[in-house]
Amino acid sequence: MYIKETKKVTKYLERVVKTKCDVCQKEIPNFDETKDLRKSRYFEVTTGHHLWENDSIDSIRDYNICPDCIQKFIKNYIKNVENTYYINIETTVASEERYSDEEYEEGE
Ligand SMILES: [Zn+2]
Repeated sequence: MYIKETKKVTKYLERVVKTKCDVCQKEIPNFDETKDLRKSRYFEVTTGHHLWENDSIDSIRDYNICPDCIQKFIKNYIKNVENTYYINIETTVASEERYSDEEYEEGE
């Protein structure tokens, strides 16, 4: 049998409030402010070597790149072809990241 007590805990949750380009450091404005998909658009880039070696996971890098820098970034990345194994690029839109639906439930 467990004897239990109720304790109030303060919890800190981390969420995204701003997005910056990893190349030029410019802020990519949130869609919530711009209401314009083109102005808030950026690229999520993941690189890594994906070889079956111990450091495979460590090689994974995530970047947020603005439309002005994406070509330069890719050109630089693939400059050394022998060290280029994996690059994934996804278009996305900057926005404030919500914690989860539950945290925003009303009424309680
Ligand atoms: Zn940039």
